[in-house]
Amino acid sequence: MTVQQRNNRLVGSFAFLVRRSLTIAATLALAGCVPPIDPAPPVSTPTGVVSAADLVDVAGTTDTGARVLQVRGTVGRNDFRLFALGSSVRGDAWTLDAVPSFLSSQPYVVALFDAEFNLLRRDLVDPGRPLSHVLREGTDQLYAGVMPIVGSAGGNFDFVARRSADQVVPAPAAQTVVLSFEGASNLRVHRRTGISFAPFDAAMLGESYRGSTEKLKQIIVDLVRADYRDYDVTIVTSDDPTPAGPYSTIYFGASDDGLLGLADNVDPYNAFRSQNAIIFVGSFRTFEPMLLTVDEVGYMLANVASHELGHLLGLYHTSDAADVMDTTGSAWDLASNQTFIRAALEPTVFLTGFEDSPTLLLQTVGPRKDGSALPRALSAETMRKRALISRRMKEQVSSPCGTCLHLDESDH
Ligand SMILES: [Zn+2]
Repeated sequence: MTVQQRNNRLVGSFAFLVRRSLTIAATLALAGCVPPIDPAPPVSTPTGVVSAADLVDVAGTTDTGARVLQVRGTVGRNDFRLFALGSSVRGDAWTLDAVPSFLSSQPYVVALFDAEFNLLRRDLVDPGRPLSHVLREGTDQLYAGVMPIVGSAGGNFDFVARRSADQVVPAPAAQTVVLSFEGASNLRVHRRTGISFAPFDAAMLGESYRGSTEKLKQIIVDLVRADYRDYDVTIVTSDDPTPAGPYSTIYFGASDDGLLGLADNVDPYNAFRSQNAIIFVGSFRTFEPMLLTVDEVGYMLANVASHELGHLLGLYHTSDAADVMDTTGSAWDLASNQTFIRAALEPTVFLTGFEDSPTLLLQTVGPRKDGSALPRALSAETMRKRALISRRMKEQVSSPCGTCLHLDESDH
């Protein structure tokens, strides 16, 4: 099976799951949100989405806004459960923790979604290791999703969801990023062994690009700035003075056997302000047969740089070739204009739902203050040609990004 066939199959089954969850969610909404206290043990439904009857409101809602719900059931391989937790407002703090007496031999992926199934928070949960999240915005229906980690057969799970009202909502905080073209010594990314590499040179991409180093650098900087033009992200280069405050660094250099890029981790809501990512410039030499222009190579490098920076700002992978966080598109998609859009999640992140990256970025770093940034768009004529070429030739990107190759191992 080719990568494209595999992708089509994944997207197809994924669309089915979304439709199914939307249908049942609509039923839930009609039936009301959370049932009153029910002493009977919850029973899991076999449909993949848990009905409201499976929620036990253990403590009810108190004057202080606290609420405790039991999230219990069974889930198998390549399946998931969704629990409707009811409406929730900005400042509600939710934790989902495994019941201490529950002797699970494995962690589960637990995620919170809003009423439109946009992912709010994702984590691995097992005893003593809760998911915690403070709602940045209210939602008419908050969902908790549970699925086995990839490769696991699943089984029984037993979690407690607790809500505390009126908690401090973390304010968006601006982020500074250095695009480093000057090489590095013993650089460690994603807990890998340190690597040392020479300064960026366009000739690393192929002989035809020799002499285009400065031009390519400028294209990359302009495009990454344009990707983040709506957000309070300041992007400078290693040619500029070193920033005064904390900053993250995206390095351009080196080569890797399988990866185009790698970031330290997915950092939800940008908890860590000084992190690293690398764009393996030498790995892009594999696209030399495509005879890309310098502009197109610039798009490729910039798209991967914006993608890795997206991870450092908390974004996961998606399945939409128009989105910066996509992992399913062709090399031609990568050489085109990708932007941050609301997109379906990549199934290993969660088997249903979306990532609304524009909203997440606004909640994380805030809106851009000065409004100055370069627009990015290929001309209509270029886009038309690109679409024609793309239909004839699908150069696949086998491993565009290594940050999430072992998504659920990296946290443990
Ligand atoms: Zn990635």
